[in-house]
Amino acid sequence: MSTTIDSPIQYLKNVGPKKAEILSSIGINTINDLLYLFPYRYLDRSTILDSSRVVNFVTAGFNGEVTIIGKVVDTEEIHYGRKSVFKVSMKDSKGFFECVWFRSIKYFRDRFKTGEYYAVSAKPIITKYGHLQFTHPDFDKLSSEESEDFLHTGKIIPFYKIPEKFKKANLGELSLRRLIYHAITDYKEQIEETLPNHIIEKNNLLNIKSTIANKHFPENTELLQRAEHRLKFEELFYIESLIALKKYNYRSKVPGISYELDKKLLKQFLDSLPFELTNAQTKVLHQIRLDMESGKPMNRLLQGDVGSGKTVVAVIAMIIAVSNNKQAALMAPTEILAIQHYENIQKMLSNFPIEIELLVGGQKTKEKSKIHSKIKEGKPGIYIGTHALIEDKSEFTNLGLVIVDEQHRFGVAQRSKLISKSSAPDVLVMSATPIPRTLTMTLYGDLDVSVIDELPKNRVPIKTYLRSDGKLAQIYKFTIDKIREGSQAFIVYPLIEESEKLELKAAETYYNNLKETVFKNLNVGLIHGRMSWDEKRTVMLKFANKEYDVLVSTTVIEVGIDIPNANIMIINDAHRFGLSQLHQLRGRIGRGGSQSYCILVTSENFSRQQQDASFNFDFLSDSQIQKNKTIIRLNSLVKYTSGFKLAEIDLKLRGPGDIYGTQQSGIPKFKYADLIDDQKILLKAKQEAFKVIESDPKLRKKENAIMRKIIKDQYRDNYWYSTIG
Ligand code: ADP
Ligand code: MG
Repeated sequence: MSTTIDSPIQYLKNVGPKKAEILSSIGINTINDLLYLFPYRYLDRSTILDSSRVVNFVTAGFNGEVTIIGKVVDTEEIHYGRKSVFKVSMKDSKGFFECVWFRSIKYFRDRFKTGEYYAVSAKPIITKYGHLQFTHPDFDKLSSEESEDFLHTGKIIPFYKIPEKFKKANLGELSLRRLIYHAITDYKEQIEETLPNHIIEKNNLLNIKSTIANKHFPENTELLQRAEHRLKFEELFYIESLIALKKYNYRSKVPGISYELDKKLLKQFLDSLPFELTNAQTKVLHQIRLDMESGKPMNRLLQGDVGSGKTVVAVIAMIIAVSNNKQAALMAPTEILAIQHYENIQKMLSNFPIEIELLVGGQKTKEKSKIHSKIKEGKPGIYIGTHALIEDKSEFTNLGLVIVDEQHRFGVAQRSKLISKSSAPDVLVMSATPIPRTLTMTLYGDLDVSVIDELPKNRVPIKTYLRSDGKLAQIYKFTIDKIREGSQAFIVYPLIEESEKLELKAAETYYNNLKETVFKNLNVGLIHGRMSWDEKRTVMLKFANKEYDVLVSTTVIEVGIDIPNANIMIINDAHRFGLSQLHQLRGRIGRGGSQSYCILVTSENFSRQQQDASFNFDFLSDSQIQKNKTIIRLNSLVKYTSGFKLAEIDLKLRGPGDIYGTQQSGIPKFKYADLIDDQKILLKAKQEAFKVIESDPKLRKKENAIMRKIIKDQYRDNYWYSTIG
C-alpha cells in the first residue's frame, strides 16, 4: 500500500520511529496532522539589513532593533576574573559582526557551531574596537540554502514553536521545517477541502491546499494574509454554524409551553408597584410575553446595566408561569442575592396567592428536604435559590420557567444543567455585564437578546471620587454628616483571596476599629462570605430596615444587592479591584432618588502625568495603556457611569479571555481568530453560517455534506456544544 496523507507520520520521508513518537506526543499522528502544525511567526526579507547598512544606521544615531543574517566563523569563551563572556563571530556578504552573551553561557555555547547560518535580532552597538556587536540577541537557525534563497529570491521563512523535548530527539528548527516542506511537496494534492465550495467561491477564499501551502511557506505576503484570513473565517464559520444548529434544532424539536396571560392579575401587580415601568422595561416585557405565549420555548438573554430594573421584569415572567400552574426557578450566583430576591419578591407578592420558596446550600437539611418534596410534587410556585437548585436532589417535575440572574457569574454548564431539569422550560438569562457585540454573538449567539437601555427616571447620576487613603479622616467625616441627613453607607473592604481566615480577621478588626472610633455613635453592621446564610439574612434585613447606618462588607455584596436608601459607598484599596467589579460594586448605590457618592480610596500614588494620561485614554498607545492600567481603571470610573463604556475600556485593558474567564464562561478557545481584531470576519462568517443552517437545518444537502463531516470530526468534543445531538 502506498503512503497517503492519512498514513502514520512515520511514513513521511526522514521521520523514523523516534521522531514519530515525539511528534505523536503532541498529537501529530498522521502526515495530515503535521500539515496543520502551523508556524507562529515568519522572517521576511524586507525586514533584514546587511552589516554595512547596520553600521551606517548606528553611526547615524539610530538605536532600534534590527535583523541580520550571517554565517558563524568562530566561537570563543573568554574569562576575565570571575566573569566570562561567550562570543560568536559571524559574517555576511558585507562584513563581520559579533554576538555576545554574559549569562547562560553553557546553553548558548552548545548551540552555535562554525559554518552554521543564523538570523540574529537585537539592538546593534559599535564597540570601542569598532566592531558591530549584538548583546543577547534573539536568533533563528537557517540552513545555508535557506539563507541563500532568502537573500536572493525574497522567500519568507516560517518559524515553529519547538518544544524542549523535540530538541532531545534531534528535531530542531531546521529539521522540522524540512519535514513540513516535504510533506507539502509530496502530499499537497491530497489535502481534503474543509469548507463547502459555494462558501469558498462566494467569499473569495483560498482553497485549502493553497491555504496550507502558503501558511507554511508563503509565496508572498499577500498570499500569507489570504491564507490566514481563510483559517480565521473557517474557524468562525464552524463555531457560528454550531450556534445556528443549536438555535434551530432546539427551537424546532421540542414543543414548548404556550402560556395564557392573566391580564387582570398582571394589571393588579403593576398597579401595586410603587413606580411605573420604564419604556425599556415595557418593551422587553412585551418580547418576553410573546415568547411565553408562543408554543416555542423561550431562550432569551436580558441585558441591562446595573440598576436598570431587571428583577421586576423577571417577577412578571414568573407570575405568568405560576398563574399557568407551573414552577418557576430563579437562580442567583450568591446566597446573599438569593436571600435578597426572596425577601423582596415575597414583599412584592404579599397580596398575591403565589407560593415562594428559598433554597440555599446553608439551610438545615430538614428545611431543604421539605422544599425538595414540593419541587418533586410539581407544586406551582416561585423557587428562588443558588446552585442548590441544580443539585440532583432538586427534581423539578413541573418546571415551566428558568431565570438565571447575573448569568455571567455562572458557567455555561451550570446554566444548561438547570435547563435540562425539564424537557423544554422557557429560559431567561439576565446579565448586567455589558458584553461587546462580538462576544454576545459567540457566547449567546443561540439566544434572542432583549436590552433594557434606559434607567428608571428617578435616578441621579452617582458622583465618583478618587482619593488617597491619607484623606480617610475627611471621608469619614463627610459620611457621618450624610448619615445624619438620613443616608446609609457601604464600606467595602477588599477581599484577600489567599486566606479566608486572614480575610475574616482583617474584616473583623477593621469593623471593630471603625465601630469603636470614628463611627462610635452610629450603628455599624458587618457582612462577609463566611457567615451562615441565616446570619447574612439577618444583617441584610437590618441594613434594609435602617437598623444599621453603615455596613462594612467584603465583596460579597458585589452583585445584585438592592438597598435603595444606601447612597454612599467607600471602596478601600480600590486599585485592587477590576473595572467591571468596581462598576458592579458601585451599582449598589444610586438606586433611590437621592444623590449618591462613591469614593474610591487608594494607597497608590499617581504622578500628575499618569493622572493626565488616564483622562486622555482614547489617545494612548497600547504600551502606554498597559503602563497606566491602574490609574486608567480608577479614573474611568470617575469619568463614566455607563456600563457599556466601562466594558469597552475594560476590554482594551484586559482582553476578553481575562474578563470572562475563557473556560468557565464558555467562550470557545480560538486557534486562529481573535474576537476583538477579527470582528469583520466574524460578522461575515456568522451571516454565511446562519444562511446555510436556515436553509438546510439538518445539513442534508449534498453541497453541505462537508460541513456535516467537519463538525462531526472536529467539533464533536467541544463541550460547549454538548447539547447538540
Ligand atoms: P438590576 O437590573 O440591577 O437587577 P433591580 O431590578 O435590582 O436592578 O432594580 C434596581 C432598583 O430600581 C430596585 O430598587 C427597583 O425596585 C427599582 N426599580 C425598578 N424598576 C423601576 C422603575 N421603573 N422606576 C423606578 N424604580 C425602579
Ligand atoms: Mg439584579
